[in-house]
Amino acid sequence: MDTNTINKLKENFRMRNIEVECFEDLTEVKNHILKIIDEECTIGIGHSATLQKMNIVESLMDRGNIVYDKELGKTKDETKMLKKKALITDWYITGSNAVTTDGRIINVDHSGNRVAAITFGPDKVIVVVGKNKIVDNVEEGIKRVRNIACPLNAKRAGYNPPCVEINRCVDCTSKERVCNVLSIIEGQANKNRMKLFIVNEECGF
Ligand code: SF4
Repeated sequence: MDTNTINKLKENFRMRNIEVECFEDLTEVKNHILKIIDEECTIGIGHSATLQKMNIVESLMDRGNIVYDKELGKTKDETKMLKKKALITDWYITGSNAVTTDGRIINVDHSGNRVAAITFGPDKVIVVVGKNKIVDNVEEGIKRVRNIACPLNAKRAGYNPPCVEINRCVDCTSKERVCNVLSIIEGQANKNRMKLFIVNEECGF
């Protein structure tokens, strides 16, 4: 990662009450997360290819944490219940679709459970992103979200909006639309709530 960019990003997030830490790889960031979260804490998970690659859910559950991850739901009702319980946890761990060097975190959601938890509910939030998610500003971030993250996430989840075929957003009104909520986190009221962990690897979409 370019040192100047990272230093600028860290300072811009610091001024917005979001602490940034950098890690070499996913193993390093996972070990750090396991160290800072107590085994008694409840944890909500925002679905993310980055977190899946880390196997963080398995590691947390193996040592006794109660984890609410919608992916563990076996029925529609169970999945909905897990999404709701994740909103009132001690910690919420998630990925993100884009972070900007000027200090914003940008996400799009299908149903909105992830952006709801990032915004309010869990006492503390950890956002883990690979270096591929860093962009200059909100305009570039939204472009990234709509033209890179959405088509790949839609395909992974088995949806088929127009962007899956053409690899760019046409602001569709398809029933298969996956980006129903766009969220920009501009800062935190509570200085100790949100941490942004940046990994020096390409991770997720
Ligand atoms: S609005 Fe439609 S085409 Fe654009 S990114 Fe979302 S799902 Fe894809």
